[in-house]
This record gives sequence, structure tokens and C-alpha cells, in this order.
Amino acid sequence: MDYMQKVSEMLAEKFDEIPLANVVTFGCAQNENDSEKIRGLLYKLGYSMTDSLEKSDIVIYNTCAIRENAELKIFGNIGKLKALKAANPYMIVAVCGCMVMQPHIVDKIKKSYPFVDIVFGVNALELLPQLIYSCYSENKKQILSPQERTQIVENTPMLRSAKPKASISIMFGCDNFCSYCIVPYVRGRERSRKPENILREFRQLVAEGYKDITLLGQNVNSYGKNLEEKVDFADLLALLCTVPGDYVIHFMSSHPKDINKKVIDTIRDNPKISRQIHLPVQSGNDRILKLMNRRYTIRQYLDIIDYAKQQIPGVTFSSDIIVGFPGETFEEYLDTEELVKKVRFTQLFTYIYSKRNGTKAAEMEDNISHEEKAKWLNRLIKIQQDIVFEHLDSYTGKTVKALVEEKHGDMYTARLENTFLAKFASDTDFSGEFVNLKITGKRGTALTAELIK
Ligand code: SF4
Repeated sequence: MDYMQKVSEMLAEKFDEIPLANVVTFGCAQNENDSEKIRGLLYKLGYSMTDSLEKSDIVIYNTCAIRENAELKIFGNIGKLKALKAANPYMIVAVCGCMVMQPHIVDKIKKSYPFVDIVFGVNALELLPQLIYSCYSENKKQILSPQERTQIVENTPMLRSAKPKASISIMFGCDNFCSYCIVPYVRGRERSRKPENILREFRQLVAEGYKDITLLGQNVNSYGKNLEEKVDFADLLALLCTVPGDYVIHFMSSHPKDINKKVIDTIRDNPKISRQIHLPVQSGNDRILKLMNRRYTIRQYLDIIDYAKQQIPGVTFSSDIIVGFPGETFEEYLDTEELVKKVRFTQLFTYIYSKRNGTKAAEMEDNISHEEKAKWLNRLIKIQQDIVFEHLDSYTGKTVKALVEEKHGDMYTARLENTFLAKFASDTDFSGEFVNLKITGKRGTALTAELIK
């Protein structure tokens, strides 16, 4: 708080007009949530937000480490800031997020991008005011080395994206060490926020009119394991559902080894929790799952899917799949096709395996060419497209509840719980509200609908 005050005064002295900030997010929903905190801090310091890099007095790149390609792209973007920085001597260039939790990346920034003023990791967001202050007052770079900081800082101000959607981080880090994933190395070990703090943030969002609230964590199903009080993810969901209001709760990501019947029963008993469950399976083959260190079998995965289908009428599933894991054969890939046809996901995020240095999988032998893997991926995408079209057709004639997101002329776009989009005409503006729609058909990958008045 001391530094907040000092920076506010310093900015008022330095700039004739309100200084402008641009926070650019690369990566996942967790990073987007972190960026909302960074914007909240900057706003409290006296900055206004801008989308223009040229007009910015501070540019912060919130980076992602999930794929090497993503890192290359980010370095390309950082490079482009050199000329802007030269044109505006007061401009601060900062890089934060997962990528700079790797020592070799921080070294590369120091060596090859000397115009970067501030570097701080995912676990040091709240230090930003202090870093800006020191950067200006000492006229010196503030490059933090990656370090383990396990404390959870509550009450960081947030400048959220537009309603009706919002997200809440319920936990940080990951203990799973899937063999392909860099997250446990960059986001640290798993730690959960206290339920009362999550409940306070959730209540506030509902009171402010947010209607679609996503609970975020690398593995939400292991929520509460490090807390003193005995509370698990199902308990947290049930607690949040006691808050009165008209809203839907989503959560991601779930881990198939940790989701259990208690979570499914809690969803069944609380209509405010989305009937779409995101359950990343990654592969349809047990040998590959073992190599991935996922710690469940396809039988166990299908058992929990079957249980959810029995307990929750209309439940649907989305998933993530990696194609071409090191050592995967075409026959093993075909098991993934079979699984996709069996579960009939409504949404699938598919990726070709991308090597991450520093992970176990990076040391595994990988004999399949990228071209071959791309062929497998295209087969899978085609199968999934057909499944989605069949799902869309099955909605014709049904009445559904959907949250209105956008207006294009006199047409509105609303999102169903399972993330399908429905388009409908209306004279009244229902943006940000739930509406009931009668589905009349499909156009492309969206549903067409009539508003039920
Ligand atoms: S559960 Fe596995 S894939 Fe997900 S963040 Fe943790 S280590 Fe990565």
C-alpha cells in the first residue's frame, strides 16, 4: 500500500496527462485472470488502460510457457517494443507470467532484450507497484529471478473484463507432474485459497451482476488438500451455490484421477452448476496415459463419465487431447478415436504434442514425423466435427436457457451451458441476461433460435 501511494504521486508529477497502460495476455484463463489483477493494480496506481502499444506509458506482456512456439512468438512481440521504447523514454516495458519463471528465459531477456525494464514471475504480481517505483526512482532495471513464493495474496484489486463473464482463481500451482507439462515447474506446488475468501469474491461478483463465473485451478478436483480445515472441491461448490442470484458456475480444469462421485452428486443437486464438465483425457490409450503420468486408465475415465450420465440428465463433456505423444503408434492413436466416438464430447481441444524442455517427455524418443501427427490430428478433428453437428441437430425443437453475450445488428448471440452458440432476433436488448430460447435449427457451427417471450 505504501508503494501504491508513492507511485501514484510519482506518476502525477511525471506525466501531464493520465498515463496509459497496455497489458497483453498470452496463454490460458489463469493468465487472463492474472492480467485482470495487473490491470487492477495499474488502475489503482493512476493508469488508464489502452489497446494501443504506441500510446502506452507501460506495456506488460503476461507470458505463457506451455509451448516453445508460444515463447518464440512472445520474443518476437517483445522485440517490436524496442523502437517504441526509444520514442518514449518514460515508457516501461515489463514481462511477467509463466515464461519468466524459467532462469534461462530471464538470462535471455537480460542479454538480448536490454530495453526490458521489469521482469516478474506469476507468483510476484503484487510486487508490481514496488517494481515500478524502484524502476523510476533508481532509474534501474528491476529483473526478478524466478523464485519459489508460496504465499497467497488476497484482495489484489482487479479490473475485470466485460460482464457477464468472470473467473475466480481458487488455487494455484500443480502437484501432478504430467510428463509433458511445464506448469508444476513454473507455477509451483499446489496451494488452495481459503473457502471464505473465495466465497467473499464470489458474492461480490454475483452482487455486481456477473452471471457466468468460472472457478479456475490447474486441478480443481484436488482443491483443499493443503488447507487446515477439511474442505474439498465438492464442499466448495455446494458452499458457493448457497449464494442467492441468477448465475451459472463453470470450473476448469478437472483431473480425471481426482474427480469423484461426490463432485458429480454435488453438480446433480445444484442446478446453478453447469451441466457441461470439462474433463481432459489427453489420450485414449492406457500405455500412453502411463507415459504421460496421468494416473488413471480409460476404464476409470469411462466409469466416471457413465456415473455422471446416470446422475445428471443432459450432462455433456468437453476435453483436451494430445496427438502424437513420444512413442505413440498409429494403433494407439486409434484408441483415442474410439474414445472420442464413445464419449461424444460437445467440445474438444486438440493439439499435436509439443516438446517442452525441462519435462520428462522431452527426453523420450519420438520417431513419428510432424506431418504424420498432423494427419492423425486432421482425422480426429473431422470425427469431432461430425459429432458436434449431430449434437447441434439434436437440439432442434428443444427449449434451452442461454446467456446473451453479443449483439450484431438486431441479432443476438447467446451461449448455452455447454458452450454452443445460439443466434436469435430480438427487439429488446437482453445483453448479459439469461433468456429462454426455442432452437429452430443450425447454421454452420451455431444454432438458430427464437426467443421465448
Ligand atoms: S494436471 Fe498435469 S497437465 Fe494439468 S497443469 Fe498439472 S501437470 Fe500440467
